[in-house]
Amino acid sequence: MSERQRAMEQSTPNDVYVPDHGDPTFGVSHYDLVLSVALENNALSGRATLTIEATEDLDRLELDLFALRVSRVKVDGAQPAKWSQRRHRLVLRLREPLAAGTQAAVEVTYAGSPRPMPGPDGEAGWEELEDGLIVASQPHGAPSWFPCNDRPDDKATYRLEITAPNDYTVVANGRAGDKRRRGSTTTWEYVADAPMATYLATLQVGRYVPITDTAGAVEVTTWCPPARRESVIEAFADQTTMVERFAELFGPYPFDTYAAVVTDDELEIPLEAQTLSIFGSNLATRDWSAQRLVAHELAHQWFGNSLTLRHWRDIWLHEGFACYAEWLWSELSGGPDADAHAREQHERLAGLEQDLLLGDPGPDDLFDDRVYKRGALTLHTLRRTLGDDLFFDVLRSWTAAHRHGTVTTEQLLDHVSEATGVDAAALLGPWLTERALPDLPA
Ligand SMILES: [Zn+2]
Repeated sequence: MSERQRAMEQSTPNDVYVPDHGDPTFGVSHYDLVLSVALENNALSGRATLTIEATEDLDRLELDLFALRVSRVKVDGAQPAKWSQRRHRLVLRLREPLAAGTQAAVEVTYAGSPRPMPGPDGEAGWEELEDGLIVASQPHGAPSWFPCNDRPDDKATYRLEITAPNDYTVVANGRAGDKRRRGSTTTWEYVADAPMATYLATLQVGRYVPITDTAGAVEVTTWCPPARRESVIEAFADQTTMVERFAELFGPYPFDTYAAVVTDDELEIPLEAQTLSIFGSNLATRDWSAQRLVAHELAHQWFGNSLTLRHWRDIWLHEGFACYAEWLWSELSGGPDADAHAREQHERLAGLEQDLLLGDPGPDDLFDDRVYKRGALTLHTLRRTLGDDLFFDVLRSWTAAHRHGTVTTEQLLDHVSEATGVDAAALLGPWLTERALPDLPA
């Protein structure tokens, strides 16, 4: 077995969920994306420069890129020995071998008409709106708009420079930098200097105006179509309070900005990205069904974006926590407490088929609603066992210990056991590794 095959074997947990994405033989520390967008014909062109580091001696490497045409590739400023596009992979054969631990700059010039990328769980990535576009990449859609090493465990910093027609607003991850207007187009710059998984990188283009606010030192901006401004202000009125209260419960907000984008289109579900969340206009209401999702997507900034799963099988580390955050927000905002939500959901799950393995649900059930609810019930079990003080202490030390890193369920169980003296694997094992629904603690 070659080094490459051995490395691929070791990455099989993610291959089951997102087959044929990512290359474990190297990591990317930075993406510099200089892109130009034309909306009328859905055209994208640009240049991506990836700072890569070999994890083993390399004479070839593969990037993920879907349905876009590459015109030029350079490695450290020179042409590689060979490159070719095969299905959704860009395969480079290097002129000089790259020794393990060595860095190189890989520059890819490309263009085309992006479209969502199919995967086991449906399509993800670039999506045209009625008048604009969104990128919703979870879990496998990043290659629909830039060449990448598409693995959740390979986080990098980003600089995005996006040129779009003057009458559109561009929102992307991180802090907005310079904005330059030239003729009929404007170039927007965004810098994401906290490490980010590829699927959390995003681009939002639409006719938006900003509603600005702050939560402590965090800049909070809500972007929406001008005609929806009043209803969006009302619907998102609690957002900064949520940032503050969640920071008390989960530890400091992990980034220096947060944004919500409300599209003019209705969207089936809201979407998470690092430092921003995307909501359809159908969710711009004060109804609990919308408010719980505002809380849910915000909670992903801690659980999912700052602390990102290493393997897709551990998706409950994102969705169970974000669902529990909904129940916490209910409790904090005068609604039913988390215990009432837990009992209601436990009763509901008890009436459903008991065939889900929370700790490894499989690609078909990656975003099954039971992952969310059973994940939240797992946390509620921990809270009931530890008591509030210790439970929230553990959440805060968990987010501090792995800030901007990648995590596994085993690490969480070890962390809880070390911090509390409670055998977390014994306590939570039945929730995670067995199919039958355990009872809630009395
Ligand atoms: Zn979620």
